[in-house]
Amino acid sequence: MEDCIFCKIARKEIPAEILFEDFDLVAFRDIKPIVPVHVLLIPKKHISSINDVTEEDSALVGKMIFRAKELAKELGIAEGGYKLLFRTGENGGQEVAHIHLHLLGGARLFEEIRPV
Ligand code: AMP
Ligand code: ZN
Repeated sequence: MEDCIFCKIARKEIPAEILFEDFDLVAFRDIKPIVPVHVLLIPKKHISSINDVTEEDSALVGKMIFRAKELAKELGIAEGGYKLLFRTGENGGQEVAHIHLHLLGGARLFEEIRPV
């Protein structure tokens, strides 16, 4: 994907503070953190949104969650707790059309929307 900003980060065409990389994934710090620890995990494969995940992508998405857990431990937020978030589509508030898992920690994170 030529113009996708996260594909560009994966290809090292634009800079990012990369914390982890392997054959399938890249993890880097969010440029506008909303909590003290704010990391984005992306697959190197371009997938526009969770709506476009196929059954063949299941293991890849599982790897993203596993890696988020490992990074949480390495970044010292595992014990205190953290939030993993996929925003999807317009109502989900997704701004970048390449799936990314937010790892959010280092502060108390209650739900923005709670049942009444
Ligand atoms: P979302 O609203 O779930 O699509 O989140 C997109 C996230 O990407 C936001 O938290 C942005 O701050 C973050 N972001 C956008 N551009 C960059 C970039 N070049 N490097 C790191 N994070 C970015
Ligand atoms: Zn992309």
